[in-house]
Amino acid sequence: MSDKFDVIVIGAGPAGYVAAIRAAQLGLKTACVDAFAGKDGKQALGGTCLNVGCIPSKALLDSSRQYWNIAHNFPVHGISVEGAKVDMAAFIGRKDKIVKQFTGGIGQLFKANKVTPFFGTGKLLKGNQVEITAADGSKQTISATNVILASGSVPIELPFAKFDGKHIVDNAGALDFTEVPKRLGVIGAGVIGLELGSVWKRMGAEVTILEALPDFLAVADADVAKIAKKEFEKQGLAIKLGAKLTKAEVRKNEVALTYEDKDGAHELVVDKLLVAVGRRAYTTGLLADDTGVKLDERGRIVVDEHCHTGVDGVWAIGDAVRGPMLAHKGSEEGVAVAEWIAGKAGHVNFDTIPWVIYTEPEIAWAGKTEKQLKDEGVPYKVGTFPFAAIGRAVAMNEAVGQVKMLAHAETDRILGVHMVGPGVSELIAECVVAMEFKGSSEDLARIVHAHPTLSEAVHEAALSVDKRAIHKGN
Ligand code: FAD
Ligand code: AMP
Repeated sequence: MSDKFDVIVIGAGPAGYVAAIRAAQLGLKTACVDAFAGKDGKQALGGTCLNVGCIPSKALLDSSRQYWNIAHNFPVHGISVEGAKVDMAAFIGRKDKIVKQFTGGIGQLFKANKVTPFFGTGKLLKGNQVEITAADGSKQTISATNVILASGSVPIELPFAKFDGKHIVDNAGALDFTEVPKRLGVIGAGVIGLELGSVWKRMGAEVTILEALPDFLAVADADVAKIAKKEFEKQGLAIKLGAKLTKAEVRKNEVALTYEDKDGAHELVVDKLLVAVGRRAYTTGLLADDTGVKLDERGRIVVDEHCHTGVDGVWAIGDAVRGPMLAHKGSEEGVAVAEWIAGKAGHVNFDTIPWVIYTEPEIAWAGKTEKQLKDEGVPYKVGTFPFAAIGRAVAMNEAVGQVKMLAHAETDRILGVHMVGPGVSELIAECVVAMEFKGSSEDLARIVHAHPTLSEAVHEAALSVDKRAIHKGN
């Protein structure tokens, strides 16, 4: 096999593996280098997302939801179950099986598309050569006309609460607890903290989330954040805002936390601590000193709007570069870069990237928040519709939350949609399509939505922008 390729991708997460497949589809001779090893020590393609991120977290969210429903939802339907028990080995084992199925699936896709995988750590050398170091230390060098850096991200570690994999854990650790912790501390009320905090709360842990910022979920629309916080607290998640962790001391089988809020210093003792204070771009060992590729002040690979690093034939995508750390954002960049390399017209619209938080209720949005529009001085109209008035949501016993639509006051173009409620992870797709096609609230208002479905909340919110919602007062 020749070691000269058209494209080498470093990293096989959702950014890298998608770039590799698209490049191969376009007839480019493609290699993909990745160092991630699964629980069996073998190569596990798919990066953070498939191994310790999106997919395993959704598997545990679903299992834990089934368990929670037995006690909290079944009785409303007149169903009672006694003696429900959890087999932790099966609970974690199901998640592991799903991970293996999908990481193995990437291997199959590589085979089908003739992408050559390499198992090891890739380092970009000058002249678009890539040195690969295997786990046993052996090295080989391959080269390509184009190299795509897709090295992803790793959890941020707090210097005073270092991960030990046992008591103080990151996302990977919190996806692999062998028993339900009695008391779980979570640092950071971001997406990961809320999702994994929800998993263990549903399984019976006493969960306390400490968040340094005074506002809950400041990245989301304020109305959505307010509704979500109320619901999470009803479920028993203790959320402390303006609470900054300053110390974490492991004592025997527990962790003593010190945090500070406006009233001073407090202590909280937990059995396990999940530190979920964000992620940082991972570039350790990725770049030889003389490649010319630059990092910004946050350690991210510097790229232009076409994901080009400024070095001939070197591109970078996904969590390792600017923009939201979301799997689908990285994948779309991967497709676009492969297409640009092949001389085609790639495209990523950063204005319509959907965000989803898979808690219950789910949270989803795309576009601008009301605050952003106010700050930018953009004139807008608002339409809202509550799930409490949606027949399907009531029938499901999940009639919580709302859809809120923001449209330009003059042109009616949809500028943002913010949802909290049942199934909104799927409902947001309709709004993204409308926004991508520069649609107006009137467009969505005039489209037939099936009855009774949750999507009627989108339809009614669109009608409500023009104060003509049918099933509520305007
Ligand atoms: P990664 O997925 O991090 O992959 C990078 C790969 O490159 C890794 O396999 C790494 O081992 C490898 N690598 C790095 N350096 C080298 C090197 N020098 N040589 C060889 N290999 C290298 N996003 C969503 O959109 N939806 C979700 O529901 C969601 N849930 C999440 C839940 C959790 C718990 C976490 C932690 C993240 C979640 N994310 C979610 C974020 C998502 O996982 C990331 O945005 C996504 O994985 C980024 O993709 P990537 O390809 O850029 O990097
Ligand atoms: P995200 O970046 O969305 O994963 O969210 C991480 C959250 O962790 C942010 O909202 C931070 O404000 C929060 N955070 C960071 N450091 C601390 C700390 N020492 N104590 C409590 N919260 C923190």
